[in-house]
Amino acid sequence: MNTEKDIIIIGGGAAGFFAAINIAERYPKASVAILERGKEGLQKVKISGGGRCNVTHAEFIPSELVQNYPRGEKELLGPFHTFMTGDTIAWFEERGVALKIEEDGRMFPMSNSSQTIIDCFLEEAEKHKVEVLYNHAVKTVKALEHGFTITTSQGDFYAKKLIFATGSNPKIWDILQDLGHRIVPPVPSLFTFDIKDDRIKGIPGVVAKHVDVKVVGTDLESNGPLLITHVGMSAPAILKLSAFGAVALAKLNYNFEIEINFIQQDFATCVEELRNFKQEFAKKTVFNSAQFDLPKRLWKTLVLASKINDQERWADINKRQLDNLAAQLTKALFKVTGKSTFKEEFVTAGGVDLKDINFKTFESKRLPNLYLAGEVINVDAVTGGFNFQNAWTSAYMASASITLP
Ligand SMILES: Cc1cc2nc3c(=O)[nH]c(=O)nc-3n(C[C@H](O)[C@H](O)[C@H](O)COP(=O)(O)OP(=O)(O)OC[C@H]3O[C@@H](n4cnc5c(N)ncnc54)[C@H](O)[C@@H]3O)c2cc1C
Repeated sequence: MNTEKDIIIIGGGAAGFFAAINIAERYPKASVAILERGKEGLQKVKISGGGRCNVTHAEFIPSELVQNYPRGEKELLGPFHTFMTGDTIAWFEERGVALKIEEDGRMFPMSNSSQTIIDCFLEEAEKHKVEVLYNHAVKTVKALEHGFTITTSQGDFYAKKLIFATGSNPKIWDILQDLGHRIVPPVPSLFTFDIKDDRIKGIPGVVAKHVDVKVVGTDLESNGPLLITHVGMSAPAILKLSAFGAVALAKLNYNFEIEINFIQQDFATCVEELRNFKQEFAKKTVFNSAQFDLPKRLWKTLVLASKINDQERWADINKRQLDNLAAQLTKALFKVTGKSTFKEEFVTAGGVDLKDINFKTFESKRLPNLYLAGEVINVDAVTGGFNFQNAWTSAYMASASITLP
């Protein structure tokens, strides 16, 4: 086997395949190889989106799209003007993979199977003569005057240009650090909150449709649906906080307090409304007359937490109880004592410092001819297809800016 290549891509995941196919298409005569440590590639694509692969998100305005990236918001704006959602859809469609939009904006292959995406990549790689070398774990990378020597578990390679698409891999970050890059220490992102509290005990599955959540003592806040789980809380209102607060919450060792406004109204307005209910529903028990479109089971636990028992009628409750209930509805405090994985979908914040990358080309500012794509960079997103969109965009930009003599 000839081990001298024009372009080597380290990592046969989402970004690696996307970069390799695009570059091989542009330079049909170039030798393009992927070095993948596993016996198969695209393993995260396979399990992504519950086996359906949430390929991207139906957001077509770059300035809106970037808001889903706690790290990378500013830097991805330019790249998204070159390659974003519409381009992703077209790219797959041109290669026979139709995508569909779900109600919440997430986009999946029509087939509802991530295997469709994998098959597409494998066929395209073969068609454009990308060499995919499995069981080739990269151990060291040395920059030469012209090109790079790459040592793998199966011998040495030489490449004129190199793309790192290794995802979140600490050993590769060490290599990149030795090559002069700054690495932002990795911390988990996209997790659910562990909470033990009587107000959510025994009611897993209950969803409050629109809540505001704040992390007490920080400026972290979010809103959206909230799901009560067996161990705590999840759904977008929480996941967004876990992503945007990834670094801050790690520093707090995942022990902090959150304040939830279950009805998105201020305390005073809520007191006013409760007073009206007192008149309107005087003879009904508070416990059994859920208001504000809240799920009945959640309403009941909040009522009990307000020192109102299950027999007391609206007419019976005093000012203190009414204030208690307003407080539970608009500023309920919960103690978070840890985190759990969200549907096994873990994402890592951290990686190659954004300051070390030229976002017009995705070339390293530290070493010419070295490119970076996907999660290896300090970019990550909330759930919904945005992490893959970063992989496609960065891989496309790197492949489009590489020039060969
Ligand atoms: C369970 C799960 C579900 C997910 N679902 C979604 C989803 O539906 N939508 C979405 O947008 N995001 C999803 N994500 C996030 C998404 O999978 C990642 O952001 C994306 O895969 C990153 O692509 P990448 O190519 O940068 O890295 P990866 O896909 O991780 O690929 C990196 C590749 O590099 C290889 N590699 C690493 N080190 C070496 C080495 N030393 N030598 C050779 N090869 C090496 C690895 O084996 C791997 O194949 C999900 C993540 C998980 C864990």
